Amino acid sequence: MKAALVREKNDGFVDLVDDWEPRKLAFGDALVDVEYCGLCHTDLHCASGDFGDPNTMGTRNGSWRRVIGHEGVGIVSKLGEGADQYLKVGDRVSIAWFYDACGVCDYCVSGNETFCRKVRNSGYTVDGAMAQQVVVNAKYAVKVPSDLDPAAASSITCAGVTMYKALKVGETKPGQWVSVHGAGGLGNLAVQYAHNVFGAHVVAIDGNPDKLEAAKENGADIIVNRKTEDVVAKVNKLTGGVHNAQVTAVNDAAFSQAVNVLRPLGKLVAVALPQGDMALNIAKTVLDGIEVRGSLVGTRADLKEAFQFGAEGKVTPIVEKVDLKDINDVIEEMKEGKITGRKVFDFTHM
Ligand code: NAD
Ligand code: ZN
Ligand code: ZN
Repeated sequence: MKAALVREKNDGFVDLVDDWEPRKLAFGDALVDVEYCGLCHTDLHCASGDFGDPNTMGTRNGSWRRVIGHEGVGIVSKLGEGADQYLKVGDRVSIAWFYDACGVCDYCVSGNETFCRKVRNSGYTVDGAMAQQVVVNAKYAVKVPSDLDPAAASSITCAGVTMYKALKVGETKPGQWVSVHGAGGLGNLAVQYAHNVFGAHVVAIDGNPDKLEAAKENGADIIVNRKTEDVVAKVNKLTGGVHNAQVTAVNDAAFSQAVNVLRPLGKLVAVALPQGDMALNIAKTVLDGIEVRGSLVGTRADLKEAFQFGAEGKVTPIVEKVDLKDINDVIEEMKEGKITGRKVFDFTHM
């Protein structure tokens, strides 16, 4: 089987191999033949060892090296014992960052399963979907609606659900202003969910004119080029300050700008994962009653809802299908901020 594995030296790139084998199915597992898997910026963090070396963490299988990928979609081809309670052969399912959890702790039973202390994450602590086959826990693999294009569904599996959830965390209401800092894979879907699902007005900020143009086509009311314009002055002047700021830019400067475009009682929703600390003006935070909230992917229920909006045509991911052999070039393009939407690896012709 072809698979993309984290390198021993965690240099941010991957090794492609032909002889990788998925682990044997345990009770409750299902085997999935992958159709598409998108590359998320979190895969770059994993391959760079930003959260620790994925090759030394979590569930070990046949290979000691970790398969990346958590924007996967594929078809169930085999069921382990007990898995038929949840899935059948032929079902189309997703492979998300949230792989599974303990199911019984305070977080799991209160609708906060992604924060379970025993959580497993695809492409990080358990093998992910950037391979021809992947093993899922049948209870946790969310089904993809039949009327949603599978390549588009792959983008909703991480980028889409993450921003749908983050807009909930920001308590987005119809008619409010939302700023989206970073109009990349996550950001362009944030614009669409904010505008088309939550009924909000949207400001999109990026340094790449093509991404800003795409954001405008997808419903952004205002676009700001951070490289040529004063982000804080323009956003405050045109909106009077936003109700919530969604930070998807892998850059600490974007976090500072986000604080400074909030109106009183505004919420900063931290989504991106750059290394380091965020600068927060203390006086602004206190005097304006600012709240800062972290937001982490979404639960199975969030993903089901996020897929449904895709199936209804309210959200249309921008995807370009590409060949797995080009994965390290695509990683380089993502590092340079050149990808509009998502590049999605096509496993259907292998
Ligand atoms: P991406 O590379 O597709 O997009 C990032 C965008 O930010 C690019 O368009 C880039 O041009 C833009 N940018 C860079 N600096 C900026 C700045 N100062 N102001 C405005 N825009 C700027 O990446 P992505 O896949 O969208 O992921 C974004 C981040 O979100 C990554 O750190 C990723 O790990 C993280 N992430 C978090 C979650 C979560 O659950 N919290 C889920 C998925 C991804
Ligand atoms: Zn992701
Ligand atoms: Zn738990």
